[in-house]
Amino acid sequence: MQDLQFFDQPISPPRPDRDATPRARRYYVWTVGCQMNVSDSERLEAALQGVGYSPAARPEEASFIVLNSCSVRESAEERILGKLGELVRVKREQPDTRIVLWGCMVGPDHRSIFAQRLPMVDHFVAPSAVDAVVALAPNPVYTLDEPALPVASWARPPVSVHVPIQYGCNMTCSYCVIPLRRGRERSRPLAELVDECTRIVARGAREITLLGQIVDSWGHDLPGRPQLADLLEAVHAVPGLQRLRFLTSHPAWMSERLIATIARLPRCMPDINLPVQAGSDYVLKLMRRGYSVARYKALIAAIRNAIPHVSLTTDIIVGHPGERSVDFAATYDLCAEIRFDKVHIAAFSARPGTLAAAQEQDPAMAVPEPEKEARRRELERLQETIATERNARFLGQTVEVLVEGESKGKWRGRSPNNKLVFFAHPDDLTGRLVPVRITRTGPWALQGEAVGSS
Ligand code: SF4
Repeated sequence: MQDLQFFDQPISPPRPDRDATPRARRYYVWTVGCQMNVSDSERLEAALQGVGYSPAARPEEASFIVLNSCSVRESAEERILGKLGELVRVKREQPDTRIVLWGCMVGPDHRSIFAQRLPMVDHFVAPSAVDAVVALAPNPVYTLDEPALPVASWARPPVSVHVPIQYGCNMTCSYCVIPLRRGRERSRPLAELVDECTRIVARGAREITLLGQIVDSWGHDLPGRPQLADLLEAVHAVPGLQRLRFLTSHPAWMSERLIATIARLPRCMPDINLPVQAGSDYVLKLMRRGYSVARYKALIAAIRNAIPHVSLTTDIIVGHPGERSVDFAATYDLCAEIRFDKVHIAAFSARPGTLAAAQEQDPAMAVPEPEKEARRRELERLQETIATERNARFLGQTVEVLVEGESKGKWRGRSPNNKLVFFAHPDDLTGRLVPVRITRTGPWALQGEAVGSS
């Protein structure tokens, strides 16, 4: 689970060529959560455009409003509830507005524990059920004649597209609500994925990120039990694809064959997110993660041995019930030893229905909030120092940047190691691979100057 990112703005901007679209055929999609939610929203927006809708910049300009929700932390749910509160006024002034609550605040049976509290919501739809949301749009011009793909009618296809390869999760990590909301794991067939990726790249995308809660377990429920390594090889061969990534790995599932495959495929980027969650075996057991710190360290060694220039990122939860100071110290030491490129750090937040929420009711196990916060800050400080030092290795180097767009007067893109790079250039280089010499580095991003374009 890569659970610590938030995207709380419409993904697709309004299209000037469709300014005349009436409010009856305008949608507004608002997304909070992980990359899986962003991918679902991308697919939804493409599908809505495919049936004749246009995006709106503000909810009051739309007749169809979809909030794609996240339950990973209480703060994510609070954002959605706050947004729904704002929409009460919109609905009062324009009663024909249809509001859909979608995503992890709704279970796989399209029911939500919040239903009683949310009279302004017209429909509740389970996570990733894109076609079910599209079917609720009241004024389609066309019908959707194929499953929702993110290729339908982007004004300009995104440079980088996320493709879900599996849904749900079979693990039972103590703190995680995802299996309760997204259901059991379902892998999408290899041929379907290769076909989708081929069409996405043909439309202009340059980079594909394969997404799943545990991407390494992809295929175990399919006939012939193909592995992620097989899928990487097949997608890597898609004509025109320049970069291939995947998210999120799990230490209990990552295989030697997968590592060797990443090392061998030139367009598979040297960038791996491998969530460790804690650096103490005692806490990993409480979390029911299914691996030990020794296994994790061995994997890191194998990855660095096979791909010496790799970037490694991880996710960590501090303050899980039962985490003692000695356990936190072990997590701190592990981070200092491995020296990750990036660490997503979260203070534990109890999610109703999970084992850890019950554990936190036990005063002997609960970590006080100020202590959780202090541990989070201590780890953040360490990681900022490490990230600063790790990124400094790029100073003076020329890296190839895939340009994703403009940001504050500069071009913004990613290096192979997934570092955010900014540089100035008079031309629109969106979608191009540009060699950039790095002139300044910091913990979160690199600055540079273009030395040509390819
Ligand atoms: S149950 Fe565990 S493996 Fe599955 S999504 Fe949640 S954290 Fe990830």
